[in-house]
Amino acid sequence: MLSDYHLHLRPDDPEASAAEYFTQENVERYLAAAEKHGIGELGVSEHVYRFRQALDLWRHPFWEEQARDDLDAYCEFVATTPLRLGIEADYLPRREDRTAALLEARGFDYVVGSVHFLGEVAVDHEDYDAWLTAGDPDAVWRRYFEHLAEAARSGLFDILAHPDLVKVWGSARPLPDRDPRFYYEPAVEAIAESGIAVEVSTAGLRKPVGEIYPSREFAEMCVEAGAQFALSSDAHAPDQVGYAYDRATEFLGGLGVEEICVFESRQRRLEPLNGAVAAGSDAEAGEA
Ligand SMILES: [Zn+2]
Ligand SMILES: [Zn+2]
Repeated sequence: MLSDYHLHLRPDDPEASAAEYFTQENVERYLAAAEKHGIGELGVSEHVYRFRQALDLWRHPFWEEQARDDLDAYCEFVATTPLRLGIEADYLPRREDRTAALLEARGFDYVVGSVHFLGEVAVDHEDYDAWLTAGDPDAVWRRYFEHLAEAARSGLFDILAHPDLVKVWGSARPLPDRDPRFYYEPAVEAIAESGIAVEVSTAGLRKPVGEIYPSREFAEMCVEAGAQFALSSDAHAPDQVGYAYDRATEFLGGLGVEEICVFESRQRRLEPLNGAVAAGSDAEAGEA
């Protein structure tokens, strides 16, 4: 069994409207791509900040610009499709209660928790670049993984998204000198305590860093700590569904991971990977 739970039905462009992309035809394209790659469990997890209700949680300028759609209309639409209903929700320190209220009021199958922002700046967004203000890569990495630990411990999320997103730029941003395991440690401890599922995401292979999230070392520490894993492509278009899953299944196999997490009504169960080998991804050839 393969899953792809971290999916977006549209590109990141704020002009990409719900009316254009939240359609049965578009969902059919995602389902067809999943079938081609032998993916049995498919769910969508649109960014929370694309919905107007997210402005009750935070009014960052980026969120103000992005928050255009209605969250309940999204939930209602997904319920008319075979997709599991998920959402990608940012971890916002000191806004845990409001985040919980937003999530609990709706019938999600699972919630993917992300850390993109550290305060007002983001690790993966050039317009709000954390490296410009922080300067010191040691501080950015430390803060990022502390936030990730808090996200895991918050209990708000079922899956911890792209766990070492801070590496997204690869050599295009300064890297700290220390062994990265120093930074991973508090996050892995929180993962172990909380039992949150750790996402293995092939999205990093499409980014400047050119690596799966998380790193091999991070994943090994998670395995040692008894963590469980979820599998995703973070696709923003149908041809990215199951992107480079042959690499992901090889990665999990190399760690000795034989089961992945699947979710329904926020209940988790484990499904055997069964030596599932994903069919080669067409997206690899054609995409930047
Ligand atoms: Zn994300
Ligand atoms: Zn995403």
